Amino acid sequence: MITTMNDNHLSSTWARLCNETIVRGSGPYVYGETGSRYLDFTSGIGVTNTGHCHPVVVKAIQEQAERMLFGQLNCMITEQALRYSEELSEVTPGKLDTFFFSNSGSEAVEGAVKLARMATHRPNIIAFQGGFHGRTAMTMALTSSKIIYRAGYQPLPAGVFFAPFPNAYQWGWDEERSVSFCLDEFDRMLKTQTAPSETAAVLIEPVLGEGGYVPTPLAFLEGLRQRCDDHGILLITDEVQSGFGRTGSFWAHSRAEVTPDILVMAKGIASGMPMSAIAASRDLMNFWPKGAHGGTYGGGNPVVLAAARATLTAIQEEKLVENARVMGDYLLSKLRGLQHEFPIIGDVRGWGLMVATEFTHAGRPAADVTKRIQQYCLDHKLLLLTSSADGNVIRWIPPLIVTHDHLDEALAIFADALGEVS
Ligand code: PMP
Repeated sequence: MITTMNDNHLSSTWARLCNETIVRGSGPYVYGETGSRYLDFTSGIGVTNTGHCHPVVVKAIQEQAERMLFGQLNCMITEQALRYSEELSEVTPGKLDTFFFSNSGSEAVEGAVKLARMATHRPNIIAFQGGFHGRTAMTMALTSSKIIYRAGYQPLPAGVFFAPFPNAYQWGWDEERSVSFCLDEFDRMLKTQTAPSETAAVLIEPVLGEGGYVPTPLAFLEGLRQRCDDHGILLITDEVQSGFGRTGSFWAHSRAEVTPDILVMAKGIASGMPMSAIAASRDLMNFWPKGAHGGTYGGGNPVVLAAARATLTAIQEEKLVENARVMGDYLLSKLRGLQHEFPIIGDVRGWGLMVATEFTHAGRPAADVTKRIQQYCLDHKLLLLTSSADGNVIRWIPPLIVTHDHLDEALAIFADALGEVS
């Protein structure tokens, strides 16, 4: 690995994949200081969905930066906030046409929990084992994908209950059995741990992300919706990673017959500018009296909002949701072909361009092999991330602009890596 600059003054907390100093990005590639080119299939962990430095986004940022850098929504309305909220309401489901803007996924999840508590006057939240929702105090408490996100920070905020997530492959069950088991456990939780009258919301990722890239079975989402309706509990979908076309539909939850009460979004929303949002109905949002939630930058910076508007335009005009679906199907079929050749690949799964290859050996997680494959790919200039508590999942999360050629380039390196470690 190349270390080109001194990092003495950077915190030790960043768990870097690559030690090369990156100086430029374009489409699915990033370029190092030494001129090397990497195929970036991390997309900055699901952020640069339109590719690095999409020209439409860059232009919108430049133009807005010359007009106005900041507007505090607690003091005045900005043009960009008005325009973006209107445009965003065209792609959000059902009555979820009212928004609060913030800066990160964690902040948006915090906002969703605060709104749910304010609206229901109930304290508790049910989240799922293996879920990831962020790094702030409340979102750490809601996270159980890996112990590193919680260890050392106790006591965490109270009022969080973890229900089992239907992880059929990991349990060696079929999907139907895992769904019915988890719905039964959910019902038991309401009878034994948190009464419906004390449960404000259920919070779920439509695709378990950091927890291993496991699509939530649609019947499970529908079962949860039903239970929320029966008990006056709000359903919050965390689409921070799965939103904005990533899964081949604009929102991952919409594959099911389900509309959440609060939808949380970030990452792909603004092509890399710090931005997040929650969407809810006007009636629900109105439970917040003026000033009950906010922040200096909780209002959508105009430059960031300009980037978000341009991102939405690029997604729609370049049909990136459809591309994610078509390229995702191609990627899945190629990976399934490799699975036949290399039994170390235990499972291939995913929706759109949110795809996992899970490595197992004799039925056990094969973390070491996973690490070696990741390292081989890095050495051959393909950036891939891992996921899951066992570290035995490689996640495929390329930008939504990828072509067959980009996928073939990555798959060739990956196939060589499999040959090397097998
Ligand atoms: N929710 C999900 C599903 C995520 O994947 C993430 C980030 N990985 C977050 C919340 C937290 O977002 P942020 O890092 O922007 O705070």
